[in-house]
Amino acid sequence: MERRELALVTGGSRGIGRAVALRLAGMNMDIVFSYREGKAAADETAALIEKQGVRALAVQADAANREDCDRLVEEAYRFGEKRIDVLVNNAGITRDNLILKMSDEQFEEVIQTNLTGVFYLLRAVSKIMLKQKYGRIVNISSVAGVRGNAGQVNYSASKAGVIGMTKALARELASRRITVNAVAPGLIETDMTMGMPKEAREELTAHIPFKAMGRAEDIAGAVAFLAGEESSYITGQVLLVDGGMCI
Ligand code: NDP
Repeated sequence: MERRELALVTGGSRGIGRAVALRLAGMNMDIVFSYREGKAAADETAALIEKQGVRALAVQADAANREDCDRLVEEAYRFGEKRIDVLVNNAGITRDNLILKMSDEQFEEVIQTNLTGVFYLLRAVSKIMLKQKYGRIVNISSVAGVRGNAGQVNYSASKAGVIGMTKALARELASRRITVNAVAPGLIETDMTMGMPKEAREELTAHIPFKAMGRAEDIAGAVAFLAGEESSYITGQVLLVDGGMCI
């Protein structure tokens, strides 16, 4: 029997991460995903993945914590019988504020989770992918990292940083044909955006050429492309999935 690929998705219990995990499961990959605190949502996601006939493992691991990140990679490596074929760095948070009101904690928490946490995962997984001479890495950035968002100096910096890391690592891993790309979502309907005031969401939506928010599945489709066979000659790229927001 042909060996199934193993995909590791951070923050896979809800929102975009869950849609990505389900989409990759539909491509016949076994899935290991992390979450921070929502065990019920994680259990539900694991059951949905298993329904597609592949294996699932939910791991509680804080993306901001190095020990947790290393343990997550170890568990995924074991679950994948000594392989990790695909890594999707999706876990991310916002702590919005205008710069004059932004606290050190708000800045540092976002950088630690969205940028340093991604570094921890990239370092640990690169070691495995270099050894196995195969890998597909997709980092979830944001339009905020491409064009900047008012009230999100911390978040925009973290997501621009993710793009820089994507390009640098793409060069480092290119000799082994391991691809490293980023997907930059626009405004997507998830708990993260549903937490915004309705008026702010409508104002932002009015400036999207498609005049509509995207769905988590729209992002999952782009990630699936970059995680699959069809994209094997694409590396170091940022794919905007934003209904035309950044045109
Ligand atoms: P949600 O808030 O809806 O879901 C976040 C997911 O990440 C949950 O599964 C959550 O688990 C997990 N998570 C959060 N913090 C941590 C942590 N420290 N460690 C481990 N897991 C964590 O977010 P979205 O689905 O909207 O966003 C996913 C990614 O897409 C993020 O990186 C975000 O920045 C990016 N993005 C989203 C956009 C949007 O419009 N929604 C636009 C552009 C980018 P738990 O429930 O256990 O906390």
